[in-house]
Amino acid sequence: MSLLIIGSVAFDAIETPFGKTDKIVGGAATYASLSASYFCDDVKIVGVVGDDFHKEDIQEFTNHGIDVDGLQIKKGEKSFFWSGKYHNDMNSRDTLITELNVLGTFDPIIPENYQDCEFLLLGNLAPQVQQTTIGRLTKRPKLIVLDTMNFWMDIALTDLLETLKLVDVLTINDEEARQLSGEYSLVKASKKILDMGPKYLIIKKGEHGALLFHEDKVFSTPALPLAEVFDPTGAGDTFAGGFIGYLAKVGTVNFNNMKNAIIFGSAMASFCVEKFGTEKIKNLSQEDIAARVKQFVELSSFTI
Ligand code: AMP
Repeated sequence: MSLLIIGSVAFDAIETPFGKTDKIVGGAATYASLSASYFCDDVKIVGVVGDDFHKEDIQEFTNHGIDVDGLQIKKGEKSFFWSGKYHNDMNSRDTLITELNVLGTFDPIIPENYQDCEFLLLGNLAPQVQQTTIGRLTKRPKLIVLDTMNFWMDIALTDLLETLKLVDVLTINDEEARQLSGEYSLVKASKKILDMGPKYLIIKKGEHGALLFHEDKVFSTPALPLAEVFDPTGAGDTFAGGFIGYLAKVGTVNFNNMKNAIIFGSAMASFCVEKFGTEKIKNLSQEDIAARVKQFVELSSFTI
């Protein structure tokens, strides 16, 4: 089934205890669409870049079968730029620079051939733009997943709360769940957040896995214990892309499929962190993914 992904397409400069990168390609829609493309063969993106973005970088999307008709290229303008530095534990980071550039005035234009999308991922972007995207679709998709971050909670909370009323699934990390709900306990936080609109809530906990909340049910998935985490940037977006990509592949939305979807999302995120930027997730095979998912299943399956 078709999947529309909207989000930042960016240049990132990343510093981790393992090294530093100059400007490399990043952005929420980049990670999410590459990840989703391994599951769904009809992925379309809506985003914006400046003319500093190279043809070969756009080619990388098309090489993965991703439709880029909705990627606007603004002449004479600069792409969104984000820079972050990870602490030694790799679980937390400081944002050093956020230059919105073309994203500051982004108007999400939905090409006509995108209108029939059945699955929608609203990747990390201004909540107002996420809301506009929903409003511009003539038919509501079967499933709308929204990803966001503390940056938008800090500067656009009212818009975010309005947008949350319109979506089915929210994915955020533990710190953000605490900020959004004002609760330290993630169980209490989940109840408050589910009251804000989404029917499902996924709380990502970095190296501690992820939790899926729905009504009074909860499901937990581990993260794969990795000897080397090189660069966690984009892990959340890669997770979201794998999650919705898997659901778009199976086509039916229910709690059981969501449980499988968060395993696939976690498996994709575990690849992402193994190299800088999109390096690893650009070059995966279906065999790599199947073997990684098997490791996840073995990691936490037991009988009593
Ligand atoms: P994650 O590590 O999953 O939180 O995602 C990191 C990606 O999000 C990077 O590639 C950034 O380019 C992108 N990003 C960082 N800040 C923002 C923002 N305020 N809006 C949209 N995308 C962002």
